Amino acid sequence: MRLLIMGPPGAGKGTQAVSISKTFNIPHISTGDIFRENMKKETPLGLEAKAFYDQGLYVPDEVTNRIVEDRLTWDDAKNGFLLDGYPRTIDQVNFLDQILAKNSQKIEKVLEITIDIPVVVERLLKRSQEQGRIDDTKEVITKRLDVYASSTAPLLAEYQKRGILQKVDGMGSVSEVEEKIKSALAS
Ligand code: AMP
Repeated sequence: MRLLIMGPPGAGKGTQAVSISKTFNIPHISTGDIFRENMKKETPLGLEAKAFYDQGLYVPDEVTNRIVEDRLTWDDAKNGFLLDGYPRTIDQVNFLDQILAKNSQKIEKVLEITIDIPVVVERLLKRSQEQGRIDDTKEVITKRLDVYASSTAPLLAEYQKRGILQKVDGMGSVSEVEEKIKSALAS
């Protein structure tokens, strides 16, 4: 199963991705998590990403594409994966298509978690307090939502055109959304 999970920051992608990954026994690959780990360890990648990350801007495509290309070669991703937070630009969509095509593979389904924006802002502010995520100040949250709307939301139309987009209403409890995702993936 080769899956993408998309939706605005704060839609609950990360939480849902963990259970999808367990259910299908596929790795959950989050580019945001990879950047956070690298920033914590102050690796060259982390230092490169930090300036963009802290402002709520996207890390340049060539950097992000490189880390995904590498991660997809790991053994655990041979039979499938769930990408969370990637692709986010049309360049990343094209790049992902190309690297998968080399092995005659393609994305089978794209889950779009939909959510009301005021709910998202509230969730992200709460998360920033709980987890001390420095990217989640009100200003940065607004910036990240704007960037999502202008750069990433339009990509959903491409996956819709391919007939692989499944919209899932992200409002409700974690287990309610989990159930909706299960039926979307079964259909
Ligand atoms: P996330 O945790 O997925 O919301 O990502 C947090 C931040 O990491 C984003 O605001 C970007 O700065 C960076 N990032 C994560 N994934 C990508 C991506 N696919 N392309 C560019 N930047 C990304």
